[in-house]
Amino acid sequence: MKKAKNILNPTNIARGVIALAIILVIVAVVLVFARHFGTSGDGVGILSSDDEHRSIVVVAAGDTLSKLLTDQGFSNAQVLEIAKVLKSDADITSLRADSDKIEFVRENADSPVSKIVIIPSPWRQVEITCAPDGKWQCQTIDIKPDTRVVYRAGEIMDGDSFYLAGARAGIPDGILAEVYDLLAFEMDFERDVRAGQTFSVLYEENYSNGKKVENGRVLAVQFEALRGNVKMYRFRTDDGKTGYYDENGNGAIKSLKRTPINNAKVTSSFSNSRKHPVLGYTRAHKGVDFRASTGTPIPAAGAGRVVARGYNNGHGNYIKLRHNSSFETLYAHMSRFAKGVVVGTTVKQGQTIGYVGSTGLSTGPHLHYEIIKDGKHVNPMTVKLPAISNLGKKDKERFLEYRKTLDASIEHLSEHPNWFIQL
Ligand SMILES: [Zn+2]
Repeated sequence: MKKAKNILNPTNIARGVIALAIILVIVAVVLVFARHFGTSGDGVGILSSDDEHRSIVVVAAGDTLSKLLTDQGFSNAQVLEIAKVLKSDADITSLRADSDKIEFVRENADSPVSKIVIIPSPWRQVEITCAPDGKWQCQTIDIKPDTRVVYRAGEIMDGDSFYLAGARAGIPDGILAEVYDLLAFEMDFERDVRAGQTFSVLYEENYSNGKKVENGRVLAVQFEALRGNVKMYRFRTDDGKTGYYDENGNGAIKSLKRTPINNAKVTSSFSNSRKHPVLGYTRAHKGVDFRASTGTPIPAAGAGRVVARGYNNGHGNYIKLRHNSSFETLYAHMSRFAKGVVVGTTVKQGQTIGYVGSTGLSTGPHLHYEIIKDGKHVNPMTVKLPAISNLGKKDKERFLEYRKTLDASIEHLSEHPNWFIQL
């Protein structure tokens, strides 16, 4: 209170006048800046916080780099030099209409362009800057994806296939195919899928600048199959290997696939006695038949080596692979073999070894697939298959912790289906 009474003494008045003058100067400076930089004539200029002038040009159909540069006032020689730097340092030779933006930066409104920013892909930004000596220098910056984890769940309806139900649940095609591939290690889609069963998938979506660019990795899948709930989780081991594991940390990726061709209908199952469709008499069917059109690629059910390739009256064109000391697989009735796949060739799981056909004793195009264990034919749909890799003790402990995080995400997102999580 005492000080308030003294507020009008000469010293305080002088201070007040100085303070007011400073405020007025600041306002004046701001107004001048606003008038000077507020608009730049062509309507695309934006005053950025660091006082640079940026104009963003969206590439239109028919635009070329040289046209866009010429429009910005570059000479022919400069256009050539910039094009050369872009090609040698960033491998950019052309711009794509509708997807590329190009940004020109000037120090102030009237100065020449000193920096050009191009975003040639959602994950890469290329900046070329004019050095004081007039040379252009190029720098590439990786854009990290903004990864969002989403969850989709569905239910099998009467007469549904897994693919139909998955599409209805909003699972994108590519993700659905991966989920099928994973589940096929554990399930027989012909026999294990029934109306009323539920399934879910936790997967990533990658965003760049707020726009979805692509689907990412499948983090977890779940299917309530007849033989029990199948769950798989993606996990990276300490030494950087990525795989899928069941809820207890056992390897979910098996050394062999039960159904080499995805989504192919089983037309004849494994049996020790059946009436042969061509021969007419009862004979064991030592494999499984999958209906597929002629020319459909046949992937190797597992990694291995070609131990036989040839033709016989029953199998037609066939290939036999040896996978390890106990497992072999055989593929019959092929229309042709894949290029370069001969006896002795080492193949990866999923690598095409031949194409579906109807050669040999066959009533129509299909794949006849056999699994031979220790020299004996076994039912591909029920044989217990070894996992490709299992986790060591330390990795297993980490996995079980990580699994809790994924389970919590699943629980959270199942209550809020349209949300996403950033892990
Ligand atoms: Zn067959």
